Amino acid sequence: MARRQQDIEIFGETVAAGSQRTFNIPIGQLYTHTDIHIPVQVVNGKTSGPVLMICAAIHGDELNGIEVVRRVLKAPWLKNLRGTLIAVPMVNVLGIIHRSRYLPDRRDLNRCFPGSEKGSLGGRIANLFVEEILNKCQYAIDLHTGAINRSNMPQIRVHLENEEAAELAKAFGVPLVIDAPIRDGSLRGAGDDLGIPIITYEAGEALRFDEAAIRVGVKGVRNVMTQLNMLPPRRTKRPQPPSFIAKSSSWVRAPADGLFRCKLQLGDRVSRGEVLGIIDGPLGGSEIPVVSPFAGIVIGNTNLPLVNEGEALLHLGRFEDIDDVETVVDEFRQEFDGV
Ligand SMILES: [Zn+2]
Repeated sequence: MARRQQDIEIFGETVAAGSQRTFNIPIGQLYTHTDIHIPVQVVNGKTSGPVLMICAAIHGDELNGIEVVRRVLKAPWLKNLRGTLIAVPMVNVLGIIHRSRYLPDRRDLNRCFPGSEKGSLGGRIANLFVEEILNKCQYAIDLHTGAINRSNMPQIRVHLENEEAAELAKAFGVPLVIDAPIRDGSLRGAGDDLGIPIITYEAGEALRFDEAAIRVGVKGVRNVMTQLNMLPPRRTKRPQPPSFIAKSSSWVRAPADGLFRCKLQLGDRVSRGEVLGIIDGPLGGSEIPVVSPFAGIVIGNTNLPLVNEGEALLHLGRFEDIDDVETVVDEFRQEFDGV
């Protein structure tokens, strides 16, 4: 029998069991004297359970996650919540104002964790975020997208050595999982130090809403919450697709400057030596093939045909069981085709 949830004390206020509240965590003022805060929604369930945080836009131009958080907060299934959901749709508020990945001092907030009270602007925001928000959670999902002009196939990045995080990664329910060791200064790193498993969802492109990426994200959050017993088990019609772990991944780079013509899509399988696209000048006549250095699956790509030599064109993941990955990725793509 599930235990009744307690009222929780958070940010100096009480959130009663079965209710939700909005908090504005102050991070200072702009030089225009405008107060700046991080908006946070705390949803406290009627029954007891874990505390999960979902956060988005640590990179201020990565918007899909903001919409994922908004849809989760209005989802009808959230009424059955057990435990507490802390939703932070816009972490890097200053970056979002400028439609930029970075902070106004050009630092990357996701390289500033855990930060310090007396550090740089990013270090101070990171420190505040850890102290005020991350510290109150047991698990977290960090939502990201590709960079400007680059798309990512929906995928989870996780440090698989962290077994609890690896379980969450599998539960999210996307076919592609990339083992990504902890990066210095990242939110995942701060979580690791505090014993809070964090997974990163990457999907779509910066500065855009990608409907498929958003739907997969909402479904993934729901799957993780079900796995954590924060939602009742679902009687799903369709079994969840298995997840495959990339052995490694690397970008194929432009062998020349020019206009890149690529026929491949995210999720396509390529073989070693296959021509992935052609780079040519505006007047034609050079037709330089871009050749795949190994067999893999396209997990990220550039959407911009203007390329300089050395620029990243296609991100390929290496997989042990590539036949199975291809089949599952094809089914997954069909499910979200045309949304
Ligand atoms: Zn990002």
